[in-house]
Amino acid sequence: MAESRNPVIGLLGGGQLGRMLCEAANPLGVDIAILDAENAPAKQAHNTYRHVTGSFKDPERIRELAIKSDFLSVEIEHVETEVLEDIDKNGVTLPDGSLHRPPIHPSWRTIRLIQDKYLQKEHYRNSDKKIPIADQVAIDGGAAALASLKDAAARFGFPFMVKARKGSYDGRGNYRVNSEADFEAAINALKGLSLYAEKWAPFIKEIAVMVIRTEDDRGNLKACVPYPAVETIHEDSICTKVFMPPRDISEEVCENARKLATEVVSTLWGRGVFAVEMFVLEDGSLMVNEVAPRPHNSGHYTIEAVPQMSQYKAQIHAVLDLPVPKQLSPRARSAIMLNILGGATPSSHLGLANLARTTFDDDMDVHLHLYNKESKPGRKIGHITLTSNTLSIHDLEAKAKSFIDLVDQIRR
Ligand code: ATP
Ligand code: MG
Ligand code: MG
Repeated sequence: MAESRNPVIGLLGGGQLGRMLCEAANPLGVDIAILDAENAPAKQAHNTYRHVTGSFKDPERIRELAIKSDFLSVEIEHVETEVLEDIDKNGVTLPDGSLHRPPIHPSWRTIRLIQDKYLQKEHYRNSDKKIPIADQVAIDGGAAALASLKDAAARFGFPFMVKARKGSYDGRGNYRVNSEADFEAAINALKGLSLYAEKWAPFIKEIAVMVIRTEDDRGNLKACVPYPAVETIHEDSICTKVFMPPRDISEEVCENARKLATEVVSTLWGRGVFAVEMFVLEDGSLMVNEVAPRPHNSGHYTIEAVPQMSQYKAQIHAVLDLPVPKQLSPRARSAIMLNILGGATPSSHLGLANLARTTFDDDMDVHLHLYNKESKPGRKIGHITLTSNTLSIHDLEAKAKSFIDLVDQIRR
């Protein structure tokens, strides 16, 4: 890293995660060069002449970004990894003819593995940590798909989940199969995609843990530091709400979740923050659903509830190999994060935003984040974090009722 100027992190993707990363980077004097469309939400939050216009799947644009950056990182896992591997191994040529090899964090190996959810989970199952995952089986493509689904049904029973191996988010690549009658519909809904089937996880709760992973420049693991466990609520497969601490889950299960998340992340490569999504089963045991190798929706609450180091600041520190705390503890007794999803009309969410702007309460702080994205039904266009130093999570939920009711109304 050049010491005569501020470090530059080149970021593939400039949505809301990149935007909040920029909000954390600005006071730290870290420059973020973003590769995404003109005026993407993250570009609006950080002024630099280094932004690149184009797609984070375009190898040429990724090379252009690499030339301008001291480090490369991602805000989305669905990026081109062949070129990242090539940059890592062979570098890029600077205008003066010299070779430049910006470290890439997390590693392209991690990004490539995680891109394929089926392989990702095989990796966890086969790791020496014996990480629990739902039973899964690859589904053949084309004409063989139907027979393959029949085999899956015989093995798992109903219901089970058919999932796109690659490219899915917000549940868009998932199809719940309730009976044989759904086979055709599942194949049609996920046409052209490489698929796998997953046994239904009869969970009582979903929880997530963010983990900071640090390693030295030779790839030796230095530390994995977990954030508090949070409860995530998914409706129609999309995350709508987050509760910290989880409601009606014992501290022991939360602690087990933090340990499991740490083990999962220790099997991956590179520096940064990682989200580990887990299912809690009836008997309190845990199963890993998937990992996101980047800041995550379930970690937005850390901006206000873990000011010691939010997930965004942690991403910057980890990528730059700056120190991170040995332990992360919340500075709020309870926190609720509510996603603002686009409703039926572009103005559906305005009442909720206004409630957030006009609510002042001694026991509850209200933090509004709008991403300046065009509103479309079901699209994540903002979030609200409610924190309390005095209220339990149940009492905060009761106090937040008008917010929760409005969030639910927008979705209807
Ligand atoms: P994300 O936006 O988190 O990346 P995604 O599109 O990758 O979502 P998943 O995380 O695989 O999708 O699934 C989304 C949600 O669907 C889960 O959080 C859970 O609520 C439900 N789900 C997924 N797999 C299963 C399963 N095997 N059994 C029961 N429910 C499941
Ligand atoms: Mg996912
Ligand atoms: Mg998920």
